[in-house]
Amino acid sequence: MKTQKDLHSLLIQLDGKGYKAYKDIKGKYSFKDYILSIDSVQGDPFASPSKARIIVNQDTAKFPIALFDKYHKNIALCDFLTRLFSKNISKYYTRVHGSGKSGLLTIDCPGQEVLLRTSVVINEKHLEARLEVGLPASGRRVLGKEAAKIFLSALPKIIESTLYYKNINTNELEKHVDLAVDQYHLREGLIKKGLVAFIGNDSILPRESGVSDKPLKKGAISFQNPESLESIFELPNRGKIKGMAIPQGITLIVGGGYHGKSTLLRALERSIYNHIEGDGRQFVVTREDAVKIRAEDGRHVEKVDISPFINNLPNGQSTEVFSTENASGSTSQAANIIEALESGTKLLLIDEDTCATNFMIRDEKMQQLVEKDKEPITPFINRIRYFYEVLGVSTIMVAGSSGDYFDVADNVIMMDKYVPYDVTHRAKDIAKNIHPKESHRFFDNSKPKTKAPRILLNSSFPKSYKGMSIKAKGRDKIIYNKTEIDLKYLEQLVDNSQTNCIAIMIEYIAKNLANDRSDIGSIVSKVYETIKNKGLDGLSTFSGHPGNLALPRKHEIMGALNRFRLLKIKKGP
Ligand code: ADP
Ligand code: MG
Repeated sequence: MKTQKDLHSLLIQLDGKGYKAYKDIKGKYSFKDYILSIDSVQGDPFASPSKARIIVNQDTAKFPIALFDKYHKNIALCDFLTRLFSKNISKYYTRVHGSGKSGLLTIDCPGQEVLLRTSVVINEKHLEARLEVGLPASGRRVLGKEAAKIFLSALPKIIESTLYYKNINTNELEKHVDLAVDQYHLREGLIKKGLVAFIGNDSILPRESGVSDKPLKKGAISFQNPESLESIFELPNRGKIKGMAIPQGITLIVGGGYHGKSTLLRALERSIYNHIEGDGRQFVVTREDAVKIRAEDGRHVEKVDISPFINNLPNGQSTEVFSTENASGSTSQAANIIEALESGTKLLLIDEDTCATNFMIRDEKMQQLVEKDKEPITPFINRIRYFYEVLGVSTIMVAGSSGDYFDVADNVIMMDKYVPYDVTHRAKDIAKNIHPKESHRFFDNSKPKTKAPRILLNSSFPKSYKGMSIKAKGRDKIIYNKTEIDLKYLEQLVDNSQTNCIAIMIEYIAKNLANDRSDIGSIVSKVYETIKNKGLDGLSTFSGHPGNLALPRKHEIMGALNRFRLLKIKKGP
């Protein structure tokens, strides 16, 4: 193997040559205590940056196995090292100048969540960090001496202070892993107790601003449970934690405008993921399969059975195999729910603020004026109990204005100046007094039809003369050849690297799994099998390393496929 010295002389040699000459530096170099692997070299200073890995043997890195011997600990350790690496880049590296992406040096940096990523990978044998480097240039000429500063001066310092156990703050690392262990137990305990969500006392739910996911610092009122919904968990590291439990069933969050209802729901929506220390939501947990539902007019729908909610459309169109290029508020919300069930959710999260009103409720005056047979919609309120009692799907819903939902709720929580109160009895009394004889007037248990599986057709993935190109653009968008997939309303997708990962997964599905026989759900399960066997690296087909992937849930992958306007489905037998 070439050495550090070889790299140095090569870079000096290349100085001043045309940019393409950089291709020569591809390869592995042994440094004193690690290997630098330059895996792919950009063709141009403006192109995507080059990719490099740092590989450290565990003989020298010496991370105790006890810190990564479980899946959740491994994720936490790699998350810690990724964050530390990023911090140490800022500390030890001053960007060298040049054209285009010259001098860029990054590792994929996590937000408030702790996710399975490809930025750092660890096992008993070694530790690997994956970086992106913008090889420096002046115009289109190699700046070899500047490149040498990155590889031979800055990087060794960063690595020295990040990837060796003896050099890092092990106390902080242990706390990071301990929290992950506690969160793992809390999530297990949640399911064992038959709960769908838990909010630990002293949690901080509001965020700094509409564009920041960091906690609100000034004037935040911390969460305290109402007496009647109290639950206590015993965690291995933190010990006892008390907070508010939300049981299975139908839970309403009510209260005046601006009293913190949506903030509570939003915290639940995000707490399918674990949060870092200091986030304020580190002891908020929601069932991991919870899906946020909202109206999404304009979306594409491909052969979804929305007949539990919508029938007899004025144009005579079938709603058992419903397709549209341009869904309305109510049809989009119906499709979102049916697709969420298809992806296996047992908990729907709904905020009245972002619903189609006619999908949620039809009040009595409207029922008198527009007779039932002229209204295609069976509102959600008529189905919500069927969902729970027959399908086992719970709902947590913010309801600021539709008191009719008192009739169907199991628990009603009122937010009053950001403090929760259990008002179930009062809400039930009100419901009884207004409709004393009709306790079941909202229970529509007419059976939705048996679901035919939705078979994914190969023709969903046409090739252009250039083949297939699938690229993520930020968090919200994936471009397939020239077709855009809009992910804006998949609100539980939280990280650009998850979107990158979905793009790779769609490519993987198109190339390996779509076979005109399997349904979307089982295809996505197969993707997870590959990940289980080979890690996220196992999905990657492109050159270099896949350093910027983070694992999304199957709900979001299916959500992306379902929003793909070229998607072709055959309804199975
Ligand atoms: P609602 O949905 O009830 O109308 P929101 O949840 O949108 O209210 O909250 C209204 C405002 O109050 C937001 O700016 C939010 O950040 C803030 N807020 C929410 N919860 C708290 C809290 N616990 N402490 C301080 N401010 C909060
Ligand atoms: Mg609101």
